[in-house]
Amino acid sequence: MSQATTFQVQDGQLLGARQIPSPNFNQRPEDTEIQLVVIHNISLPPSQFGGGYIEQFFQNQLDWSKHPYFQTIEGMQVSTHLLILRTGEVLQFVNFNDRAWHAGRSTYLAQKECNDYSIGIELEGSDDLPFEAAQYAVLTEVVACLQQAYPKIQQHIAGHSDIAPGRKTDPGPFFEWNAFRQQLHHFKNK
Ligand SMILES: [Zn+2]
Repeated sequence: MSQATTFQVQDGQLLGARQIPSPNFNQRPEDTEIQLVVIHNISLPPSQFGGGYIEQFFQNQLDWSKHPYFQTIEGMQVSTHLLILRTGEVLQFVNFNDRAWHAGRSTYLAQKECNDYSIGIELEGSDDLPFEAAQYAVLTEVVACLQQAYPKIQQHIAGHSDIAPGRKTDPGPFFEWNAFRQQLHHFKNK
């Protein structure tokens, strides 16, 4: 691959992403290779965009009193490696070398604890609204970049609902898997 991309991985950081460190991470088990990308959606409050609440949530700085929904997630300590906002801006909360807390109880191809060996990507979105074209465009570039940096990922791109079925529904019915995979294929072969 020779095309110039906006993003690059260096020492576990995604250059081109805004760095917003989250305290919610720990070490991956020793000798764990990154081999899976997990795609999620999140919006706070649900189906409302902007406002900066997701960022505050992943930084343990969300004011739980600001919205009734926030009280249902009060005290939760979670994170993701990357968040792609509706505008296509990418934020990084956890270094890829570290284990972010995004998947919970999960299994992929008979391997449990997906947090150990995956990279989590949250799209600002919900199960009941389409995602933005800018988000697909950036997700495509970011995943291509991650596949280059972590070759074991290859085709291993799953939704949260795939690795935690019955428990999680995201990225939801509006995430266009076929279009995304085609876009990724074209991007890598252009
Ligand atoms: Zn999720």
